[in-house]
Amino acid sequence: GKARSWEVTKVRTTCPYCGVGCQLNLHMKGDKIVKVTGVEDAYPNKGRLCVKGRYGYDFIYSPERLTSPLIKENGKFREASWDEALDLVANKFKEIIATDGPDAVGGISCARSINEDSYQMQKLFRAAFKSPNIDHCARVCHAPTVAGLIKSFGTGGMTNSIEEFADTNCLFVIGSNMTEAHPIASTFVKNGQRNGAKLIVVDPRKAKLADYADEFAQIKVGSDVAFLNGLMNVLITEDLYDKDFVRDHCDNFEALKEKVLEYPPKRASEISGVSEEQIISIARMLADNKPGMAIYTLGITEHTCGTNNVMSVANLQMLLGNVGKPNAGVNPLRGQNNVQGACDMGALPNVYHGYQSVTDPAAKAKFEKAWNVEGLPDKLGLMIPDMFEKLETKEMKAIYIFGENVVGTEPDISHVIKCLEAAEFVVCNDIFQTETTQYADVVLPAAAWSEDEGTFTNCERRISRVRKVKEAPGIAKPNWWIFREIAKRFGQTWAADSGQELWDNEIAPLAPFFAGATFDKLDQGGIQWPCKTPEDPGTQILHLDGNFTHGKGHLMALDWTPPAEVPDADYPFTLSTGRRLYHYHTRTQTGRCEGLNELLPEEYADISEVDAKRLGIEHGEMILVKSRRGTVKVKAQVSERIPEGLVWMAMHYFENNANWLTTRSGDTITKTPEYKACAVAIEKIQ
Ligand code: SF4
Repeated sequence: GKARSWEVTKVRTTCPYCGVGCQLNLHMKGDKIVKVTGVEDAYPNKGRLCVKGRYGYDFIYSPERLTSPLIKENGKFREASWDEALDLVANKFKEIIATDGPDAVGGISCARSINEDSYQMQKLFRAAFKSPNIDHCARVCHAPTVAGLIKSFGTGGMTNSIEEFADTNCLFVIGSNMTEAHPIASTFVKNGQRNGAKLIVVDPRKAKLADYADEFAQIKVGSDVAFLNGLMNVLITEDLYDKDFVRDHCDNFEALKEKVLEYPPKRASEISGVSEEQIISIARMLADNKPGMAIYTLGITEHTCGTNNVMSVANLQMLLGNVGKPNAGVNPLRGQNNVQGACDMGALPNVYHGYQSVTDPAAKAKFEKAWNVEGLPDKLGLMIPDMFEKLETKEMKAIYIFGENVVGTEPDISHVIKCLEAAEFVVCNDIFQTETTQYADVVLPAAAWSEDEGTFTNCERRISRVRKVKEAPGIAKPNWWIFREIAKRFGQTWAADSGQELWDNEIAPLAPFFAGATFDKLDQGGIQWPCKTPEDPGTQILHLDGNFTHGKGHLMALDWTPPAEVPDADYPFTLSTGRRLYHYHTRTQTGRCEGLNELLPEEYADISEVDAKRLGIEHGEMILVKSRRGTVKVKAQVSERIPEGLVWMAMHYFENNANWLTTRSGDTITKTPEYKACAVAIEKIQ
């Protein structure tokens, strides 16, 4: 029946889906969420919510939730006590580390879970296992953002804030399907345009936002650096760049200039498919409408040149003087609700939390003292793609996968399965059985969103509270508790006994970026890091007045490089991948939300009208999409939004997940896979 208003209480929390980090009020009747509304006047969403935030909560009540630890015996899972399961995990890791060394184990943390969980997992690997091998799914999305922006600006986060989209004079959106992947962020873009900002959209697909654009540049997949160099060529040759800003706040201008002079509009046009006239007019529009904000997503990062793409966007904004001021900056929209946080918490192979380098002896000494341990690993750990490779060659023996459905989200699914099958020992923490937990030896049941107290950090560096409204089912436990209990079996006593104790006693005091953001302060509302002292209200805009973290902003001279796999006679199409509005990734959560399943019950491959006609494929007809790695059977969606030669798919459904087809070729710096480009063939099923 319908809840009566006097029985309903409201609890504020943070949305568990995308990196926008909308603030929600959960309307509770007992321990049941009966309705979700946006928190008025709260950043970043000011009361707005998309369909996932509003209707995507029933998964926590699913009867399919894991309620007990599971141990695999003779190929079947059986229930076990916590002591038995944790002893087994600890003993197996001890045994492997004793025989093969700490490099033989690896961990993948979770960008869906609270900061406190990721902090605790990297601590388990570093302090208890003495292994440097900890990473998480930023590797498959925004690792190039972190690496690229650290190189360009000194700090690897969005420079400005979502609310500023509504107040800027120009919005340059490249490689982002915001209306579906970050719906509420896109509403602020539309507000900005209504307030008079110019909107420039650059994408291979004519996605929804292009309908609103003043300029829509339908770029060829993987040609971003050439296109951006072309824009900068015009800015420099027409003398439209911000000379004062470049002189006072940037270095390496001469090298950049020399490089972009090799990309006059004609050459940029040949590579990118955008006309010379349009390249010139977009460059002029950018120069005439300042300040302006650059916004990008995975269309920039998921390429073999991902880090170069990021630095190229940073180059453009520095050249325009669009950094270090309000309504400007370089603004990557992070994918997962807490992928910013998982990076911030040091679930990366090169940094402790707060981006303190593992190779810095001072940082090592600091954490050895704080954690009361000796011998923290001081070399760089393995990135996820290397972990899989080493599992395949049996140099790595055990992998601990926390909350990631890697059989589905990593490229080349057949290869991922082969690697997990080759592993001697696989442990998963999860809230459901997934395609990945099938390969586990031990599955540990975890508390989900709304079953534990902690924090998420959104794409604009805003740390927000996540609150508990119900108990975890069965004997499921918070992830930070699970990691602590394993550490105990390695002889370590970790005192923190709640999200708050983890935050206030370890996370904040041990990282200058978070030092002033106490849990009590976070309880009053979100805070954007850096927040260094108790008086510090947080930082809305990074690099204010051109004061970059590492001194001067670094302009980079970058050349365009093509995708690793380009179409040929056998595989004449380019496959590009992404997400659709109603589902999230492999649907572990949204697949268990009735309303969302009704809205998108099956998957499609989007193809162009021209190609459909040429191949005699009807809208809705089953086709085969084949790559060098696999074949999937899927319905064709003939779309005017897709250019000739492109096939576009998502990863929401397992059978026809695009990742059966995608390539493992990755960014040269961060190894982030090139999900946005591989070669495929399509075939009508006769
Ligand atoms: Fe949640 Fe993102 Fe939708 Fe906001 S835009 S409600 S954070 S899924």
